[in-house]
Amino acid sequence: MIIHPLVAPILAEVVSANPGEPEFHQAAEEVLQTLVPILEKERKYLKEKIPQRMLVPERTIEFRVVWQTDNGEVQVNRGYRVQMNSAIGPYKGGLRFHPNVNRGVLKFLAFEQVFKNALSGLPLGGGKGGSDFDPKGKSDAEIMRFCQAFMLELERHLDHRRDIPAGDIGVGAREIGYMFGMYKKIRNEFTGVLTGKGLGWGGSLLRPEATGYGLVYFAADMLHTKGDSLKGKTCLVSGSGNVSQFAIEKLLELAAKVITFSDSDGFIYDKDGITYEKLAYLKWLKNEKRGRVSEYAEKYPSAEYHPVARNARQNLLWAIPADCAFPCATQNEILENDAMALVQNGVRLLAEGANMPTNNAAIEILQKNGVMYAPGKAANAGGVATSGLEMTQNYSGEYWTREQVDQKLQAIMRHIHDTCLAVANEFGAPGNYVIGANIGGFRRVADAMIAQGMI
Ligand code: NDP
Repeated sequence: MIIHPLVAPILAEVVSANPGEPEFHQAAEEVLQTLVPILEKERKYLKEKIPQRMLVPERTIEFRVVWQTDNGEVQVNRGYRVQMNSAIGPYKGGLRFHPNVNRGVLKFLAFEQVFKNALSGLPLGGGKGGSDFDPKGKSDAEIMRFCQAFMLELERHLDHRRDIPAGDIGVGAREIGYMFGMYKKIRNEFTGVLTGKGLGWGGSLLRPEATGYGLVYFAADMLHTKGDSLKGKTCLVSGSGNVSQFAIEKLLELAAKVITFSDSDGFIYDKDGITYEKLAYLKWLKNEKRGRVSEYAEKYPSAEYHPVARNARQNLLWAIPADCAFPCATQNEILENDAMALVQNGVRLLAEGANMPTNNAAIEILQKNGVMYAPGKAANAGGVATSGLEMTQNYSGEYWTREQVDQKLQAIMRHIHDTCLAVANEFGAPGNYVIGANIGGFRRVADAMIAQGMI
């Protein structure tokens, strides 16, 4: 990809100042390229060095987490919190526990989060955190000890008006519970400092469902602009965690047919389609048994299991003919070959449930071939938006029904969708959700930063 001369020096600086952080460089490149129209039109942003400022975290915290396995072995992990930008509200963004977590991965996620939160229209800044701790194969007691050790340090950097983490890969309701318990014990106060809490202790109805449901609402709005709907569409979904499970559930509700899902070892192709009953089994398998998706093929003969080699340059899940694609696992799961296969098979829409699942070259292929493409910072914002709703309920002490939260979630997803389209139109790129999301999010944060002076 040729980098526009207006932003090339900024990107070069990012690359040289952040060595060994390819995901952060990738996210910076994707955003900077699409900001060119607004940077050309409004020179104040470059004069104030807003893009350069946004690419340096306000603060990065790195710390040691020491804990003990069930058989008494001492373990040492790295913990992080990247407090990226607080121009429009307190830092907000999830915690990820996965062995491939490092500073660069969290900086890319925090950078994306700033735009996503701004687009949601809510008063939320951006941050992200986590650890290289691998929850796979650990006992409940080990998970609890790790979460407690992690929070013992992170606690001093959080507050319900300063930084409010949530879940992400490897951090679900169980982990949020253990971290919340530790925070409460240290501070001796009960506040909404984490979102994704259990329903009986400050959580919001529909928070677990929100990212997957929001993604599907967004895709439905995209198709609606073409006079079409999800009804009867064959859909590819990747991943099998929180986002995937509820994306599948909402797709079923809207009468689409879902034929795939995956984990980090391989994918399932169920040609007959996933039913509510099969989805209930998948939820049990992943959330309670903590098993692998390969077990689904042992139970349902209509399904085939395909192992996927790590670091393969093509994932054959994306080569299965379908109408719509929803990557919901992790970053860089759709590369050039996958994008080509999607185009050849006539996929019309790709909406990202995961953060940055499609690399920049693959995005270019999709867009050049007329696939409607929605970036994660717009399409998967339903999770953080509902976390914002959880915070409002915690502050006010008033709790909403499932229907009330669902209505607000749908309204927020529509607002993001319509903002993307309006901004894309304004900058001469009709239908380009990437330009719409990046410029829309950037403008809100950039204007707040200018108003608040040189800090
Ligand atoms: P979960 O931990 O619940 O599920 C993650 C899924 O992705 C699992 O199926 C996991 O498989 C798979 N996966 C993880 N790493 C890899 C890898 N390296 N290669 C292939 N598959 C992998 O996480 P979530 O569903 O919460 O998050 C999924 C994505 O959605 C992430 O990109 C996250 O940042 C994004 N997201 C999540 C939000 C939320 O509210 N939870 C909000 C917005 C975005 P396995 O079982 O093998 O680990």
